[in-house]
Amino acid sequence: MSEILVKMKSWVSLLPPFTLNSALEIVILAAFLYVCLLWIKNTRAWELLKGLLVIVAFTFFAVIFRLTTIVWLLERISTVAIIAAAVIFQPELRKALEQLGSKSLFARIFPEQAADNSFTTVNEIVRATFSMARKRTGALIVLEQSYPLREIEETGIAVDGIVTGALLINIFEKNTPLHDGAVVIAHNRVTAATCYLPLSEANDISKDYGTRHRAALGISEVTDSVTIVVSEETGNVSVAENGVLKLIRDESALRSCLPSGEERKETSSRFPFFRRGKGGER
Ligand code: ATP
Ligand code: MG
Repeated sequence: MSEILVKMKSWVSLLPPFTLNSALEIVILAAFLYVCLLWIKNTRAWELLKGLLVIVAFTFFAVIFRLTTIVWLLERISTVAIIAAAVIFQPELRKALEQLGSKSLFARIFPEQAADNSFTTVNEIVRATFSMARKRTGALIVLEQSYPLREIEETGIAVDGIVTGALLINIFEKNTPLHDGAVVIAHNRVTAATCYLPLSEANDISKDYGTRHRAALGISEVTDSVTIVVSEETGNVSVAENGVLKLIRDESALRSCLPSGEERKETSSRFPFFRRGKGGER
């Protein structure tokens, strides 16, 4: 026992002294790692990382079982793979570097107080949704929660208007310039219209659903937003959240699905990385 203690003491004495600089370095490296993980998660690099982990596991396996030819091959491939990854992910890498100089990076790490939808906002959204459903006007409304939707807003046209039923109905009116795509609502404002949402690649979506529903599901898989879909074909109202699309029967059911100020206080997280969609029944 005492021998182990002596050994541990000698190891500890080998470590450099822990100073204020060390603490600062730990904080900076932790923040850097967090930003990298956040970036990886929000881009196609997430898939790359998963692929890399499989290759690393396979390499360990090959080294442990002394599969020399495979290890040799992996060594050769790794150099080419790094260059290939840089070429394939050039758009993402460029965007990440661009973001380094922009203030939106800080907003991503420390999101502003998430959108607390006021009672009036929720009411206006519910009223507009069922009014459009009755007239079979297709609509797609994304409500931001703690995950910032700036990148989605950038794909559309900025609106920055107070949320009113009339505004929403007007936006989705057929043959008007803003009706196509999705509307984003954050902080009790309609921030943008005609936004493009990532389409879900899930295979188990009902064949009755087209791209509007797939887009609602897609955004709910990658962010913690709540998305309302009004079907142009059936007049049905659905809500997509956490990778699940559910049919909404009436106004009170919709109201209970929408994040309001009170609810948000319990569920919000300042760290979007830990708020991934769960997936599940559709
Ligand atoms: P509906 O029941 O209303 O017909 P659907 O699920 O069958 O909806 P489509 O008929 O394909 O879907 O709806 C097409 C409309 O959905 C487009 O005109 C556009 O407004 C919207 N849409 C499609 N894809 C996207 C996307 N990726 N992001 C935002 N909006 C989209
Ligand atoms: Mg359709």
